[in-house]
Amino acid sequence: QSLDLEKFCQNLIEELHLVNTQDRKIKFFQNDRRLGPDSPPPRLDSKLLRQILSNLLSNALKYSPPGGRVNFTVDYYDRQIAFTVKDSGIGIKSEDLPRLFELFHRCSNVGDIPGTGLGLAIVKRSVDLHGGEITVDTQVGLGTTFKVTLPLSTPPSVPPQE
Ligand code: ATP
Ligand code: MG
Repeated sequence: QSLDLEKFCQNLIEELHLVNTQDRKIKFFQNDRRLGPDSPPPRLDSKLLRQILSNLLSNALKYSPPGGRVNFTVDYYDRQIAFTVKDSGIGIKSEDLPRLFELFHRCSNVGDIPGTGLGLAIVKRSVDLHGGEITVDTQVGLGTTFKVTLPLSTPPSVPPQE
C-alpha cells in the first residue's frame, strides 16, 4: 500500500494538537522536490511510521522549554526517505547516549518532566523493522536532532529496457 506522505504527516501533527497551539511551536517543512508525476508515493508501513514520528515529535515538544522551536523535515532521495526532528530543548548528556534506546531508560537531566522511557525503544524497534537507521545529534542545553532514514521499496517508474 502506498502512502500520501504529506497528508499523513499533516494528519499526524493535527492529531498531536500541534498545529493550532498559540505559539505554533512546531514548524513543518517538507522538502518535496522529488515529488511529482514521476515519483510514486513511498511504500511505508503507516502504523510503524506513526509510532516513529509521533514519539519523536512528542519528545521534541516535551523536552523543550516554552517558546522553543521544533523543526520537522522530510527529505526524499531516490531510494530512501529521511525524517528529521530538530528541537531546541534540554539536550542529552553523552553519558546517557549508549542507553538512549533501552526500555525504561530516562536520562539524568529530565528533572520533573514526566515519562516512562518507552517511546524511543519503540522508535528503534520500528526503524529496525523497516531496515532503516536512526541517528542522534545533541548538545546539552542547546537541543537535539533525531534523523530517521528508511529505505523505499517503490517500483521503478519506467520499466527496464530489454
Ligand atoms: P515515554 O515512554 O512517555 O515516551 P520518555 O519520553 O521518558 O517516556 P523516551 O521517549 O523513550 O521516554 O525517551 C527516553 C529518554 O530520552 C527520555 O526520558 C529523555 O531523558 C531522553 N530524551 C528523549 N528525547 C529527547 C529530546 N528530544 N531531548 C532531550 N532528551 C530526550
Ligand atoms: Mg517519549
